Amino acid sequence: MSVPSTPFPIRSKLPATGTSIFSVMSALAQQHGAVNLGQGFPDYAIDPVLIDLVTAAMRAGHNQYPLSAGVMALREAIAAKVLRLYGRAYDPETEVTVTTGATQGIFTTIGALAHPGDEVIVFEPAYDSYIPAIRLAGATPVPIPLTVPGYDIDWAAVRRAVTSRTRMILVNTPNNPGTGILSAEDLQQFAEITRSTAIVIVSDEVYEHMVYDGARHESLARNDELAACSVVIGSFGKTFHATGWKVGYTLAPREITAEIRRVHQFTVFTVNSAVQHGLAAFLAEPSRYEELPAFFTAKRDLLRTVIADAPFDLLPCRGSYFQLATYGRVSEEPAFEFAQRLVREFGVATIPLSAFYQDGTDHRVIRFCFAKRDETILAAADRLRRISGSN
Ligand code: PMP
Ligand code: GLN
Repeated sequence: MSVPSTPFPIRSKLPATGTSIFSVMSALAQQHGAVNLGQGFPDYAIDPVLIDLVTAAMRAGHNQYPLSAGVMALREAIAAKVLRLYGRAYDPETEVTVTTGATQGIFTTIGALAHPGDEVIVFEPAYDSYIPAIRLAGATPVPIPLTVPGYDIDWAAVRRAVTSRTRMILVNTPNNPGTGILSAEDLQQFAEITRSTAIVIVSDEVYEHMVYDGARHESLARNDELAACSVVIGSFGKTFHATGWKVGYTLAPREITAEIRRVHQFTVFTVNSAVQHGLAAFLAEPSRYEELPAFFTAKRDLLRTVIADAPFDLLPCRGSYFQLATYGRVSEEPAFEFAQRLVREFGVATIPLSAFYQDGTDHRVIRFCFAKRDETILAAADRLRRISGSN
């Protein structure tokens, strides 16, 4: 017996939202046997030591509900890492909360702090979960375009957008999909704009270890004024190449953390215990994250080199594990159509940047993910060089 249809119309809370562009492009890639440089996930193995540590945690009996805010050993390890890298001492007891990936950290933070009628500033292109999370909280997203082609913040536009109803600003550094990074000067701008307001800054820093060419990651945690009003969000999915494990965290002053935890306990209550124990032990060795910029620099440089003679113009990549490209030499199609054609005709999946704008803004830019095995990057390049217009 199949399930009967619901006999009344459902009033959607997200009527304008379709399937995520990542799922759409991954499904298309699978259907056409394409090399998938679309959705951002590594295709190489994670460190076997981490697998052993998680396995050992399960065998040691860490299989029941941990504390709602997270396993204390992991909260302590996160606090130690943040102190070491950014000089800020978050209290594991009251200021660090383990979440089901950064996605839940973002969703819960917005749900806890944004009220109906509040305005939340987001920068576009915006990572796809931000605007739905704002809408579900009953708040109003206020999108501000990043500058093109550098994808930097237009500070005059931010000043114009701030009103007495602005409750929150969401920022992402290193930026997905823009690949820009905030500078120390940008942090000063944030401090000036939010000084003497009740604006909370939510800083999505999941790509904190992917900054290049000697730049340093300017975490909002570094700045005294900003640390007092910010929620900094991280993800072990990105840091330790295990996107399927979905473990992340929020860092925020105790007053803000208290509100996040009120909501956290009723959204997921807690996050799986064995992985938390495994990560806590793995974090004891700082080289495990300190070597990441070099690892990803090599991937970035390989991709840039091997697609140099495909008919794209590559934008600079200052952060994240993505490379942006324009394709004006070969096509005037909108980015979504071009990306679909790349899969169908050339067997390479990418992500069109137009998907990250509410109003369909399309600068005809596509995004490649280079968190892939070298063979995968080389296979994609072989296919991309066949596009007419290449040498
Ligand atoms: N923020 C950004 C900018 C991302 O790119 C991603 C996904 N890769 C996330 C948040 C979600 O992270 P997680 O998988 O830990 O939920
Ligand atoms: N963050 C990943 C990306 O930008 C995708 C995550 C997802 O599929 N939700 O590609």
